[in-house]
Amino acid sequence: MHKKLEGKRVRIKAKGKIFEGIVMPSFTGNFVLKLDNGYNVGFKEYELVEVLEVEPFKPQLPELVKKEGLPDIKIISTGGTIASKVDYRTGAVTSQFTAEEIASEVPELTEVCNVDAELLYNILSENMKPDNWIELARHVYKALKDHEGVIITHGTDTMHFSAAALSFMLSTPKPVVFVGAQRSSDRPSSDAAMNLLCAAKAATEDIGEVTVCMHGSTSDDFCYVHRGVKVRKNHTSRRDAFQSVNAKPIAKIDYPSLGVEWLSWRYHRGERDLKLADRLERKVVLIKFFPGLSSDILDYYHSKGYRGFVIEGTGLGHVSTDWIDTLRKVCEDSVVVMTSQCLWGRVCDRVYDTGRDILRAGVIEGEDMLPEVALIKLMWLLGNYSVKESKEMVKRNLVGEIEPTTQY
Ligand code: ASP
Repeated sequence: MHKKLEGKRVRIKAKGKIFEGIVMPSFTGNFVLKLDNGYNVGFKEYELVEVLEVEPFKPQLPELVKKEGLPDIKIISTGGTIASKVDYRTGAVTSQFTAEEIASEVPELTEVCNVDAELLYNILSENMKPDNWIELARHVYKALKDHEGVIITHGTDTMHFSAAALSFMLSTPKPVVFVGAQRSSDRPSSDAAMNLLCAAKAATEDIGEVTVCMHGSTSDDFCYVHRGVKVRKNHTSRRDAFQSVNAKPIAKIDYPSLGVEWLSWRYHRGERDLKLADRLERKVVLIKFFPGLSSDILDYYHSKGYRGFVIEGTGLGHVSTDWIDTLRKVCEDSVVVMTSQCLWGRVCDRVYDTGRDILRAGVIEGEDMLPEVALIKLMWLLGNYSVKESKEMVKRNLVGEIEPTTQY
């Protein structure tokens, strides 16, 4: 009986009470119900006095009335946990994510801004591809023409790749804020509503760049706004998984007051013109070096026509000395950038002999850039400039991806 009812809404009589919720898959033979408050309760078969299937709950959606004096903000949904209202039987995501639905989930949003919404994708972010980044950049570019800011709801796994991609493709005079959730909105510990509310606040502020807004601690007390090219998901499950690496976050947004504290330099609203340069070269690769890895990997990609290589080297930015000859050959017609798997700190290939050989072979130090950011910067550069120009430009700070000094 349980299997047939999985994913259905039922009202049951058990233990002398009435319970209503959605029937969950169960591997123990128990009857498991997800209640509307997010908690699951299990029952033994013999405890069920009555089980009645009922109509799925359809919330009455409020009519959205534009409020004078509040900024217009566009929310573009791309999927991920933040958009998930899971159908527990199929795992499918059901929400359409209209502005009305979002506002009914997080009513406080309507105190911060006038919400306009667009569902672009409903995918998990591990399925994002460069084509999606380009399409997303085009939609954000369009939305920025008649909104004061844009929020992009996104899966957390690759949110920092998308944020970096948009940072290079889009010059923005207004805030573009990526936001996600580590726990879906039907779980009691969900971070979705608070993150979204803080993101809305960030989207109305004096920021002129692409950012990521996520929980700043494991409590529900503040969010950080991170620069899109300095941020990384550094934990699989914690709500404060996102950290600025080699930089301070741009701002801290307190919850629930939504007070803003500025923590580092930023591009201000109106500082840059709205521009889109949305070409990306796909034949760029990120290679993580490990002891014993053969340089054949470079030859392989080079023979396939790749002309952009980012290496995640050890320590200050090293690979085995066995790689030097191949590096020299590849560097003749390609851009090879060295980053570090330490993540924190700056690459310096002038300390050890190996590093000096690597530099002499033509490899470029990636300064304090995150490996993923260097990868996307190279995709963007090679999509728009020649190999020679890209070699020069990859060393320069373009959108805040290279800090002038290492302080962290
Ligand atoms: N795998 C999911 C995604 O990145 C996780 C999440 O949304 O947080 O889409």
